[in-house]
Amino acid sequence: MSSFDVVIIGSGPGGYVSAIRCAQLGFKTAIIEKYPTLGGTCLNVGCIPSKALLASSHHYEELQHFADHGIEVSGKVKVNLTKMIERKQAVVDQTSGGVKFLMDKNKITVFEGVGSFEDATHIKITNGKKSEVIEAKNTIIATGSKPSTLPFITIDKERIITSTEALKLSEVPKHLVIIGGGVIGIELGQVYLRLGAQVSVVEFMDRIIPGMDGALSKELTKVLKKQGMKFYTSHKVKEVTRKGKNVTVKADDAKGNELVLEGDYCLVAVGRRPYTDGLNVEKAGVKLTERGQVEVNNHLQTSVSNIYAIGDVVKGAMLAHKAEEEGVMVAEYLAGQKPHIDYNLIPGVVYTWPEVAAVGKTEEQLKADGVAYKVGNFPYRALGRARASSDLDGFVKILADAKTDEVLGIHMIGARCADLIAEAVTAMEFRASAEDISRMSHAHPTFAEAVKEAALAATDNRPLHI
Ligand SMILES: Cc1cc2nc3c(=O)[nH]c(=O)nc-3n(C[C@H](O)[C@H](O)[C@H](O)COP(=O)(O)OP(=O)(O)OC[C@H]3O[C@@H](n4cnc5c(N)ncnc54)[C@H](O)[C@@H]3O)c2cc1C
Repeated sequence: MSSFDVVIIGSGPGGYVSAIRCAQLGFKTAIIEKYPTLGGTCLNVGCIPSKALLASSHHYEELQHFADHGIEVSGKVKVNLTKMIERKQAVVDQTSGGVKFLMDKNKITVFEGVGSFEDATHIKITNGKKSEVIEAKNTIIATGSKPSTLPFITIDKERIITSTEALKLSEVPKHLVIIGGGVIGIELGQVYLRLGAQVSVVEFMDRIIPGMDGALSKELTKVLKKQGMKFYTSHKVKEVTRKGKNVTVKADDAKGNELVLEGDYCLVAVGRRPYTDGLNVEKAGVKLTERGQVEVNNHLQTSVSNIYAIGDVVKGAMLAHKAEEEGVMVAEYLAGQKPHIDYNLIPGVVYTWPEVAAVGKTEEQLKADGVAYKVGNFPYRALGRARASSDLDGFVKILADAKTDEVLGIHMIGARCADLIAEAVTAMEFRASAEDISRMSHAHPTFAEAVKEAALAATDNRPLHI
């Protein structure tokens, strides 16, 4: 029987990054993945394919504005969705191949098959009719998540679909009805909106991207409405039915008024559930929470001392970079180090255009916590860089402590915010004040100048360019 210092179950961004860090620290490491391709949800049906389609559809949309720049395109421009999906798949395959390369480079043993516990130190790997048992001094559960649905909805994977199917449609929907105005629904909605679909979003809460600062939600709604997306917030979906190629979604608003939407596709994007099916956690004595997550302590250790869990399968934001940080943290903890993650400083991003990004506390959270704060805002339209590329929508908003000026949250919407947020995270990691940021030189002309200007507005109400 082969034996390992660390066995990781699941090869998503949590699992494969953890495997690399374990190997770097000198542990004999193995990773088990049930699918033939490595990389988990993120690489295969999540972050990477969705960003590939967002990039392709963004090119198509930008082309509609070429004439404004004095570029005349003659002949009809049309979308070849099959080619677009093929390109997306090529990006996915290449990225997944990169993970296999990293496993080999770091001498990590890769097992293909379903991993399930025999007991706390033995894991059975089943691949078709073949199975073998390996010994693990330590195990890291990194089995991720799957799309969830509502109890009365049957996902048929053809017309009533999840994000997984939405990443490989063979036609542009005429009318795509999306249930759920969270990040995944909105990103995929914008892909098909750009490609010519009518897109309607039905959301239970009173706003889209409800976890983010209210100002971001308001601005994104405004911009997407301008682009043609329709929103039905504060609506509770009660029925989804399919007849042939048609799908009907029924929902009630807060007053009980019925909304009926007829579409040809319905994307159910109501969140994801932690995935532990087939893992036989009970055989190892690992406890789950009421929500089906693997229960862990601050060291990401489960109820069994040599078994850890990371990523989407445990509490916290379901984000690839959060899973990665946790994977590194467990590896270093096993090596006797004292790693730490500040969960308040895990950024959140929506890859629509304009992009939305945030880190730290929202204004709503500060109000609820009774914290006295100052706000500094700076609009994109006042930036020379934004005017040069006609990316006028958006703003940067900085929340700072009213007394100490320490930055408590940075919220932004606009071109390239997904990259700009790194400055905000760095500043907050070093516990910068708004004045600290305002006194740092920011290259001109850049979108990053909005961060400096918002910091000037927050610290002393003295932005320079408005
Ligand atoms: C459409 C979409 C877009 C997204 N976009 C982003 C984004 O832009 N940025 C971001 O940060 N996050 C994004 N996410 C979320 C991100 O994909 C997840 O947070 C991330 O993949 C979680 O990583 P993980 O390692 O915990 O699990 P996963 O990536 O889910 O990987 C778990 C792996 O474990 C395997 N597995 C499960 N059980 C077993 C078993 N018993 N034996 C062997 N293998 C098993 C699974 O097959 C899977 O490969 C997106 C998600 C979706 C669906």
